[in-house]
Amino acid sequence: MERTGSFKLLTSPQQTEAFSELARLFSEACNGMVPFVQEHRCWNRVGLHHLVYYPIRERFPALGSQMVCQAVHRVADAYKALRANEGIPKDQPVPAIKFTPSSVSFDHRTYSIKGEAFSLFTTTGRTTVRFACGPRQKALLGSGLPKEARLAIRKGKCYLNLVFDLPDPIPLLGDLAVGLDVGENNLAATSTGKVLGGGKLRHDRDRYLASRRRLQSNGSRASKRKLKAISGKEQRHVRHVNHETSINQYASCIAAGDTERAIVAQALQAGACILRMEDLTHIRAHIKAGNRVRARLHRWAFRQLQDFVQYKAEAAGIKVEYVDPAYTSQTCSVCGGLGKRVKHRFACSCGNLAHSDVNASRNIARFAALSSSARGVVSRPEFAHRVHPCVVESSSL
Ligand SMILES: [Zn+2]
Repeated sequence: MERTGSFKLLTSPQQTEAFSELARLFSEACNGMVPFVQEHRCWNRVGLHHLVYYPIRERFPALGSQMVCQAVHRVADAYKALRANEGIPKDQPVPAIKFTPSSVSFDHRTYSIKGEAFSLFTTTGRTTVRFACGPRQKALLGSGLPKEARLAIRKGKCYLNLVFDLPDPIPLLGDLAVGLDVGENNLAATSTGKVLGGGKLRHDRDRYLASRRRLQSNGSRASKRKLKAISGKEQRHVRHVNHETSINQYASCIAAGDTERAIVAQALQAGACILRMEDLTHIRAHIKAGNRVRARLHRWAFRQLQDFVQYKAEAAGIKVEYVDPAYTSQTCSVCGGLGKRVKHRFACSCGNLAHSDVNASRNIARFAALSSSARGVVSRPEFAHRVHPCVVESSSL
């Protein structure tokens, strides 16, 4: 299992300067490789290495052999990601990717750990820099095997994001599942009946959206720059709130007996071995997806919350599964019939009255169970086509 730890570097002004210079050269080397990628339509690591190694080494002698290799990896990976996300059509020119001087890749040849300090490559020789070491960093250093790293420079501060290989958690065995619904009104609801609020997150997001609209109506270059900065800020903010919900609350709610249980803590408390969520990835293929699902398609915050929960759940030994999201909100989680949903309330003629997101999360918990239980599928045939749990295996496991 791989986990990334972020280490804040306690740099001197000279070291900050040295890292900034390294990042500048690193990004220029990456940008220098882009024309080769475009001309030869080559983004395979080995192929690209053969194409660019000598010309780039000659152009950027201060970077040294290892940094040029790292830059080749960075460019190859960026193009692979572009192809996976947006595709690079065969009959069209390869788009240019612009690399900014904000990060540098390191490996074992260019960094090492010395107690509570890193020794890092710079163009003026190795430098030793201490880092802030909190409980998470201590735990990672104590139990994990350090692998590749990325130096990130943000607002004049330097961080080393270090990947660790950790022992795989012992999987919890059993078939009890907890469902998690990520929603528009509330951040998340679990089938154990807990609703985690999204009030603050929604308020902040609306504020960002309002200022974004103002800036978009004014198309000047300065406002475009501002817009870009805001989107980064908004993303980091939502990321932070999601992170708190799925991870920090988990730790603190156990320690403090907090009434608002964290999602994974909920699952563990319920004795669940499986956590099920809606698969919002391939939703476009489902014509019957309702408005509620479609409205969330492009809201990456939901996907991100799911990713965080998955990350934390897997670390706790809980298996994560995704189910088809169609009808999760309209179906009664008690009788399986169609119920009525009015805002936060779900009501069914069988007498089931529940918070609509909790009802949805109970369906999510149940849906995949139906697919492994023949009786459930037979009893409601229309479930058959929409219940296909896809177990997502993390590439890091
Ligand atoms: Zn019912």
